[in-house]
Amino acid sequence: MGFADKRIAIVGGGLGGMALANSALYAELRNVHMYEAAAQFTEVGAGVNITRNANRLLDAMGVGPSMLAKSSRDPPSYMEYRHYRTGEFLGQIDEFGAPTSRQIHRAHLLEALKENVPDAHVSLGKRLQSLEWSTAKKEYTLTFVDGTTAAADIVVGCDGIKSVVRSQYLGLGDNPIYSGQMVYRGYVSYDDLTHETAALLRKTVNFRGPRRHVLTLPIGNDEAKNARVGIIGFMTEPLENWTSESWLSTAPVDDMYEHVKDWTGAVQEIVEGLRKGSADGKILKQALYVREPTAKWFDVRPDAPGSGVILIGDSVHSTLPHQGQGACQAIESGFALAQVLRYWPDSNLGAALQYFQDLRKPRTDRITSSSYETGKMASADIPEEQWATSFNPTVVRERMRWVMEYDLMGELAKGLPIGGDEVAIEEETTSELPAAVTVC
Ligand SMILES: Cc1cc2nc3c(=O)[nH]c(=O)nc-3n(C[C@H](O)[C@H](O)[C@H](O)COP(=O)(O)OP(=O)(O)OC[C@H]3O[C@@H](n4cnc5c(N)ncnc54)[C@H](O)[C@@H]3O)c2cc1C
Repeated sequence: MGFADKRIAIVGGGLGGMALANSALYAELRNVHMYEAAAQFTEVGAGVNITRNANRLLDAMGVGPSMLAKSSRDPPSYMEYRHYRTGEFLGQIDEFGAPTSRQIHRAHLLEALKENVPDAHVSLGKRLQSLEWSTAKKEYTLTFVDGTTAAADIVVGCDGIKSVVRSQYLGLGDNPIYSGQMVYRGYVSYDDLTHETAALLRKTVNFRGPRRHVLTLPIGNDEAKNARVGIIGFMTEPLENWTSESWLSTAPVDDMYEHVKDWTGAVQEIVEGLRKGSADGKILKQALYVREPTAKWFDVRPDAPGSGVILIGDSVHSTLPHQGQGACQAIESGFALAQVLRYWPDSNLGAALQYFQDLRKPRTDRITSSSYETGKMASADIPEEQWATSFNPTVVRERMRWVMEYDLMGELAKGLPIGGDEVAIEEETTSELPAAVTVC
């Protein structure tokens, strides 16, 4: 049964939308079409770390080889921690097994995902303006800013944290919450570092400081000649200092330097490398927002079985990036949704989407709250003398185990008639996100 005959519109072609398009075609949902606002696929930032829980799915869909050709090659650990001022080694989190994490330029990941999606399934320059249900035609009408329209039976909002689908159609009017941190992002060339620092930054390194931390990702690889260091500086700043109208803007490298001017030599090299790599002396600066977990992920039409609207990715389960999971969770959700739509045993879309939400929400809620906690640990506000002893890498590694070791395909096989078993969803415990999120 399932919904393979339905017209599925994906709104948004970021990492989440593109992962869903791959997953839909992999599941043989051929009647799928993606509408992306930008005139071409773009992803900015300082690279992204895709962990093994998501890589297992990307590998199953055949994205692995192209991704690996563009990404880092098995760094020795998932994360290494260093003292912000002395540079002293504090501990590391080892990987949990193959496939390991991959650090990759966001645009390269998007490219790898696009390779499996024929152009016929994609429309660019289509910014959704409104989404309405036509009672006469029993279909959704998507109206774009350029005045064109499209029709669909199922609409999936993958349009990010400021989602139009979310606010307009599902009527969720809550506002994202400022996390308390600004993020500075850029790249440093290995050639701009001393030999010793370049060798260190072949690993994913987290320089832990009070109320701040600098994360470095070894993006790309030497064979592809795209190896460089992605820099993400998480700095506690009041929102009042933010003068840009947009969440994502640029700022002088000096602004980040002010936060880290007494930090270890490797961090000073990073700042110098950022200056050298930036023609105008600026890097990306972003105010970090998150939404509280949402109760309502979807809506179905009572007058048309098989028609409905659902959200995935940052539009519904955004998280702070401290466990490197926002894109990974969007990939997991895209894969799960496609499998549910393909293999659901009857024509009851409401039941299918409820099953999907019940499968995904406990996990994404838990990731939202635990990422907030991990952020507090990464940028802890503790006295200097307790600094080294306060950090326990074993505890941090165990906090990542359930994230990385999750077997989505196994969970789906338990509940969908792929394996012929009954629907059985294992509940996970969740902890609430505090009403006002402030990362110290
Ligand atoms: C500093 C930082 C570091 C991060 N690091 C990691 C990491 O290491 N690992 C990880 O897994 N995640 C990470 N994340 C999270 C990750 O970037 C996001 O969770 C992920 O990009 C969300 O993907 P998405 O497709 O849901 O939304 P988005 O990436 O926001 O994409 C939304 C897309 O929808 C389009 N769009 C918007 N409005 C419309 C409209 N009206 N009509 C049509 N199209 C529209 C946009 O143009 C865009 O292409 C990080 C985030 C930050 C801020």
